[in-house]
Amino acid sequence: MHPAILQMLAVQDLDKNIQTLQAELKPLPGQIAALHKDLEQRAGAIKKLADQAAALAAKRRERELEMKTREQQLAKFRNQQAAVKTPKEFEAMNHEVEKAEADISALEEEILKSMDEEDRLGVEVHKRQADLKLHETKAAEQEQRIREIEGEKKQLLHGLSEDRIVAANRLDPDHRDTYEWLLKNHGPTAVTRISGDACGGCGGMLIADLAVKVRLGKDLIQCDHCTRFLYAPGKD
Ligand SMILES: [Zn+2]
Repeated sequence: MHPAILQMLAVQDLDKNIQTLQAELKPLPGQIAALHKDLEQRAGAIKKLADQAAALAAKRRERELEMKTREQQLAKFRNQQAAVKTPKEFEAMNHEVEKAEADISALEEEILKSMDEEDRLGVEVHKRQADLKLHETKAAEQEQRIREIEGEKKQLLHGLSEDRIVAANRLDPDHRDTYEWLLKNHGPTAVTRISGDACGGCGGMLIADLAVKVRLGKDLIQCDHCTRFLYAPGKD
């Protein structure tokens, strides 16, 4: 095989590994962000329930005050009822008493219903808070694991990048420029095997003379179509 091909293949192997590592690193920040988002959503749902319970409690306290006022009125009506002089006045007062009693009963029912709902929400909030704690612990572990993997891969990438500089410096400057251009356009298939008499990169047929030269491995041959560097499999 032509020595320049061997040198470029060394660079290309590194580029393949670099590309793989970069692809593996890419989704990791998103995975961490997703963990955070899940916790935020859980905390948001808990806050919504707690706010709901607080709003119910505030409304219930208003109703309790209302009920107290109505109870005071009822006591007054009952006193007045005892002091009336005519059946008509008694009837009118009786009406007020009954109305107040009905209001108080309705308020009482509303208050009890609210308390039940507040209790239910309170239990739900507690349950979800405990659940959130578990998720926080689990997410923290997962995040740590992801960050460890990220650190290892970045370190590996750093090492490969340094090796790549050394390997690329070994190339003839002209070949290097062409290789870099091909890498940018085709990815790490800048140096490719021939497949039969065709370019393994673009699939274009090579003229017979060129395919023979590739097999001989004495000259550095590029594909007529895509300009990739070509080599023959099994030649060294
Ligand atoms: Zn080609």
